[in-house]
Amino acid sequence: MAISFKDAFANNSKILRSKASKPSIQAVSVAIAAAVAATLLVSYTQFQSITPEGIVHAQTKNVVLWILDALPFLFGYVGQYSSYVMSQEANLMVLEQTEELRQKAKELEKQVAFSATHDTLTGLPNRALFYDRLEQSLRHPREKKLGLTVLMLSIENQKEIESTLGLTSTDLIVKQLSTRLASWSGTEDSVARMDTHSFAILLGDCADRTSAEQAARNLVKAIEPHFVINKLRLTLQPCIGIVLSPEHGDDADTLLQRAGVAQFFATQSVSGFSVYSPNMDEHSPRRLTLIGELKRALERDELYLYFQPKIDLVSNSVVGVEALVRWEHAQHGFILPEEFIGLAEHQRMIQPLSMWVIERAFLNCAGWHQAGIGLKVSINLSSKDLLDPELPDQIAGLAAKTGVQPEWIVFEITESSIMGDPARVLIILERLRAMGYQFAIDDFGTGYSSMAYLKKLPLSELKIDKSFVMDMLSSENDAIIVRAIVDLAHNLGFTVTAEGIENIETMNMLKSMGCDIGQGFLFSEAIPRVNLEKWLSNWTVA
Ligand code: C2E
Ligand code: CA
Ligand code: CA
Repeated sequence: MAISFKDAFANNSKILRSKASKPSIQAVSVAIAAAVAATLLVSYTQFQSITPEGIVHAQTKNVVLWILDALPFLFGYVGQYSSYVMSQEANLMVLEQTEELRQKAKELEKQVAFSATHDTLTGLPNRALFYDRLEQSLRHPREKKLGLTVLMLSIENQKEIESTLGLTSTDLIVKQLSTRLASWSGTEDSVARMDTHSFAILLGDCADRTSAEQAARNLVKAIEPHFVINKLRLTLQPCIGIVLSPEHGDDADTLLQRAGVAQFFATQSVSGFSVYSPNMDEHSPRRLTLIGELKRALERDELYLYFQPKIDLVSNSVVGVEALVRWEHAQHGFILPEEFIGLAEHQRMIQPLSMWVIERAFLNCAGWHQAGIGLKVSINLSSKDLLDPELPDQIAGLAAKTGVQPEWIVFEITESSIMGDPARVLIILERLRAMGYQFAIDDFGTGYSSMAYLKKLPLSELKIDKSFVMDMLSSENDAIIVRAIVDLAHNLGFTVTAEGIENIETMNMLKSMGCDIGQGFLFSEAIPRVNLEKWLSNWTVA
């Protein structure tokens, strides 16, 4: 099909418009207009009129017009060329910027990936990454064959540090600790911060119990040297739960759960670490539910304070009572303090629990003194209470509220509760002693008996642990120990109390050794206040 000249022109100019740059079209248009105007002007000046012959003559004879005729092509070319160069440059700029954006996006992606798998404070791998690595190691043929160990570490006194020094200082300590852990393990990759209060360490080349325990002992040593924060020297108390694979599990979930259980038991061990054992699990579910319920028990008055009489072994008179807490649980019945005191200590519940006990004990004591019953009340303090700088003021407040005189009260403390941080404990004990309160050392003989501390502490009474007393008839060794403790206490000027007297023979033996006070089922177990008052009225001194 033949195309008309008009169509061809329209098509070409369309192509030109779409391909040619706007500046080159403008330049070409101006050059054409200039050439046409110049032709018309030349034709007019030569023939005094504009005629086709004049135009042809001007175009063929005038050299300047030839140059002008060439200008549209030149302008078109230069315009198109410069547009091309500009567009190339613009393309380059766009490419560079796109590359920059791509780089930034990549960095952001990396950052997001890092923060999803690492702890922001310490830069160590987080729980998710540790979990992944543990799973990978468990599947790795070498590790699968040789086995591995996971250590779960927490710092027992971290919460105390937090409440005393604040979160910023605690963060600094955690950072120092993470550096120490990473250099201890030799590689940052196998150490992870699992949550605010625990770290985990994967030991790939350690699969038997002896080397795992040795590693934990080693780690405790590495954490032992003090940390310095704002010129303060702090000692961290590590507790480490140990699990071995395949012995304790061959998947990450089981191993981490069991490491947590073992770590809970480590808080109660002297060494600071404990290897998981299946019987630890038996009480775990109950323990977990009890943690939440203890708080409610306090609010709902499910706790009771019982009292166990203390008898003067010379005069046979009742000189005091020991306050012992009881929990009557709606489903589980009576729960022994040995089960929930440890829990409360671990979960920061001991402070309100101790305050509850002290207030109840003070109220009862004040009531008895008002009624003319001059009983001294002994109250057990936990190791965590002895680190609380607010304790003396809280006790002073409760004494004022209940009308108790400090000399009616004896606080029982244990050797192990002092050893954690003797300097801090001493300050608190001295403040209470200055107020007029007395102290007894409880469970004597079971802890780290240190003569130096026995002399330093403001004590007035020493309680021989019931384990020696209960066996002294059958074990000559225990009888020797009891006699030695009685003499030691007297030499230091303390009153001696023997706990766990269950029969007359034991009582008589203790009397012959010069023991001052007795406590035990022979006289009475711990009973509620009302029962105690009945018991007192039936007690005959003779
Ligand atoms: P503890 O301070 O050594 O208390 C003496 C424990 O020996 C009491 O056990 C008491 O019932 C028991 N006991 C007394 N006489 C005899 C006896 O003749 N034979 C036998 N077999 N046992 C006797 P309980 O009440 O179960 O208390 C256990 C531990 O729980 C206490 O040991 C004390 O460390 C802690 N505890 C009890 N109440 C409190 C409290 O209010 N606050 C704190 N922080 N700890 C408490
Ligand atoms: Ca006691
Ligand atoms: Ca005791």
